[in-house]
Amino acid sequence: MDVNVLIIGLGPAGATVLSKLAQIVGSEKSILAIDHRAKPGFPVQCGEFMPSPEEMASLMPAVPNSREFFAFDEQYISQRTKTISFVSPQGKVIQTPFEGYSLHRGKWITDLIETGKKKGAEVWTSACAVNMENTRITIVQSDKTQIQINPQVIVGADGVNSKIAQWIGLNEKRSDKDYVIVKQHVMTNIDTDYDPTDIQMFFGDKYSPGAYSWIIPKNNNTVNVGAGVRIPMLRGKMNVSKALTNLIEEHPTASQILKGARIDKTIAGVVPVGLPFQNTVDVKSQSLLVGDAASQIVSSVGGGIPPSMVAGSIAATTIADFLDGTCSLTEYQTRWWKSMLNVLIKSYKLRQFFDKISSGRDSRIQWYMNRLKSGDINKVVHCAVPWKVTLAYPFVRYLNWIIT
Ligand SMILES: Cc1cc2nc3c(=O)[nH]c(=O)nc-3n(C[C@H](O)[C@H](O)[C@H](O)COP(=O)(O)OP(=O)(O)OC[C@H]3O[C@@H](n4cnc5c(N)ncnc54)[C@H](O)[C@@H]3O)c2cc1C
Repeated sequence: MDVNVLIIGLGPAGATVLSKLAQIVGSEKSILAIDHRAKPGFPVQCGEFMPSPEEMASLMPAVPNSREFFAFDEQYISQRTKTISFVSPQGKVIQTPFEGYSLHRGKWITDLIETGKKKGAEVWTSACAVNMENTRITIVQSDKTQIQINPQVIVGADGVNSKIAQWIGLNEKRSDKDYVIVKQHVMTNIDTDYDPTDIQMFFGDKYSPGAYSWIIPKNNNTVNVGAGVRIPMLRGKMNVSKALTNLIEEHPTASQILKGARIDKTIAGVVPVGLPFQNTVDVKSQSLLVGDAASQIVSSVGGGIPPSMVAGSIAATTIADFLDGTCSLTEYQTRWWKSMLNVLIKSYKLRQFFDKISSGRDSRIQWYMNRLKSGDINKVVHCAVPWKVTLAYPFVRYLNWIIT
């Protein structure tokens, strides 16, 4: 079967490419989008947090019309939030203003796919890309039928550890430090005193070695509660399940919020927290990578929805131009670099910076957090390093020696 464009994977990145590309080219070009899930978007493997359009405009100012671009229709907003609180290993809370919302992410993805279908694209669910030979992709459907697809353009939007990236040779070897293992519950029946406009991030060896744990409100009764860990920072018998249980049962404040709450759903996943891949276009096979497949992520916080939207949208317009004969596919890389590479690099450097000063020790995290104020945390959530930390940096080795 010949198609102009094959999109593999319908998470935020692939669904954005599908919706936008179908709106540009309509049924003049054939688009086939596939996902191995029966209902793409579900189960929701995400904390679903999204900064407000105003915050996104300051985080990614190079995205054209950024306020409008990042605005979500009211129907996709589950809960508006006003603040983020960082909670230190010993329970010190530093709160800072940062507006955002939790999304109905599954519904948003479903509607993007529906838009693509209405504009003439074909969508196959329970369909898995299993092989690539030259530019021919083999897809296996749920009834085990194998179909060969000959696409003019291939979009690899198949998430972290992308098969497409491997097949086209663009995947990069990463260290275990560049991945966060995560587990999350949706919990309901939340304590009524809980402030549903505050996002909470918990640090410390017991709750999130090498990363952070979170409570993201979905409404005043339901929250996404998750824990992240990085393998090189795990000690003894610690693992992600234990970290999440510790948070829910033993953390001085989180356990109070979650006391009496019920677990509704549980998911697990992996978040890439390295730099984006250096090369995201393969001219030989006319393929490109978007979203987690290209490690396009705000790595200091593991935020992948905004970069997936930006890369997905740029991929769609570039493919449309390419099919029109007005540009080469390599233009995709030039365009997304211009829009967001700077912030992705800044957030990666921030992650490395904090790895170095904390070296994974609670005592050090606590020492630094005791000296940070709301304004400093505000810098961190905007991917900047607070001046106090910059000042302390040349003395890190000495400080780490005295703060054991
Ligand atoms: C627990 C958790 C919490 C998170 N919280 C947040 C948050 O609060 N805010 C935020 O911005 N980011 C968050 N992230 C990160 C964010 O979810 C990802 O960065 C984002 O989903 C990346 O989108 P994507 O489309 O690139 O990949 P994915 O969402 O992973 O989508 C990939 C799709 O490809 C499909 N697929 C894979 N292989 C194949 C194949 N061979 N054939 C067919 N289909 C295939 C999969 O079924 C899937 O639907 C979180 C991640 C996790 C795991």
